[in-house]
Amino acid sequence: MVTILQKDNEILRQIAQPVSQSEFATPELAQIISDMQTAMHREDDAVAIAAPQIGVSKRIFVVSGKVFDRTEEGTQTHPDLICINPEITKASKDKKQMNEGCLSVRYLYGNVRRSSRASIRAYTQTGEVFERGGSGLLAQIFQHEIDHLNGILFIDTAKDIKDMPPEKK
Ligand code: ZN
Repeated sequence: MVTILQKDNEILRQIAQPVSQSEFATPELAQIISDMQTAMHREDDAVAIAAPQIGVSKRIFVVSGKVFDRTEEGTQTHPDLICINPEITKASKDKKQMNEGCLSVRYLYGNVRRSSRASIRAYTQTGEVFERGGSGLLAQIFQHEIDHLNGILFIDTAKDIKDMPPEKK
């Protein structure tokens, strides 16, 4: 069973290592990504997960396909977006306070100042490079997840942090 590490675990504070050329398209890499997807999809409110959150200090994050769905019934129709060795290539000067939480910081929520638009360059599981731009939630996810790869948690800079366990929501 894959567990999601919680905020005091020191792996969450490490700078994650890049995935090396020889790791692309291996069963080991596929297993890490599969474990990340399993852990993420177990949580109803999850929109993304970074590898350090399952104890793997590598530069990988996965965005839930739910984020790209525009259907109302809530069944996932888009595949998850897998981002390896991601880098922010553009971030808007325009910033907004965005409310966020984290699977590793249960159950705190707070406001973080984020660029309202951001683009990343990253690699697929087989090592193909791609670029992807996003605004709103997707831009927020890119910034939050890359922070994870640099040992940063949203509570480091968040304002108005509130503890909201599910039963109080
Ligand atoms: Zn997080």
